[in-house]
Amino acid sequence: MIENRSSLSFWERQTYFEGVDLLIVGAGIVGLNAARAAQQLKPHWKILVVDRGRILPYGASTRNAGFACFGSMTELLDDLKNTSEKEVFDLVQKRWEGLQKLRAVLGDDNLGYEELGGYELFTPQEEEIWKDCLDKMDGFNQH
Ligand SMILES: Cc1cc2nc3c(=O)[nH]c(=O)nc-3n(C[C@H](O)[C@H](O)[C@H](O)COP(=O)(O)OP(=O)(O)OC[C@H]3O[C@@H](n4cnc5c(N)ncnc54)[C@H](O)[C@@H]3O)c2cc1C
Repeated sequence: MIENRSSLSFWERQTYFEGVDLLIVGAGIVGLNAARAAQQLKPHWKILVVDRGRILPYGASTRNAGFACFGSMTELLDDLKNTSEKEVFDLVQKRWEGLQKLRAVLGDDNLGYEELGGYELFTPQEEEIWKDCLDKMDGFNQH
């Protein structure tokens, strides 16, 4: 984050900010992967990634739980209330494919990737939704 442009030296302004071909706002997982993909497509481009964070990116990517999620049953059931089945499972597919890309780029060791399945906890008050999940689990796994 640069609060005062005039505080930049000639060299800083020229090196970092002049002749930029692509400006990406946000240095989270999406911004950085977009920069990486653009660099592969256009190796000669000067790509600048900026973030509102002063020193580190200030978003969800460095503050999340670290699970390789592609949608829990309750989350997907909730999505299905407002979205068609095709759209919901297309999105799951995209998340899954994105995860495979990320694994290929970074490597499982670097990610600390482990395949441990998925679990959801239900309180006694959530018995109805738990039963709904059990009913639909086979169908979801088919998808
Ligand atoms: C508490 C929590 C737990 C989560 N747990 C998981 C999990 O276990 N598994 C999982 O898959 N997902 C999880 N997620 C979701 C996941 O973290 C996000 O979907 C993902 O990080 C989004 O990435 P992003 O790059 O789109 O956004 P971000 O990582 O938020 O990046 C956006 C960046 O843009 C910057 N920015 C925003 N506005 C501006 C601006 N105007 N100018 C400059 N910079 C700007 C921000 O500072 C930020 O760095 C979790 C999210 C949260 C909040």
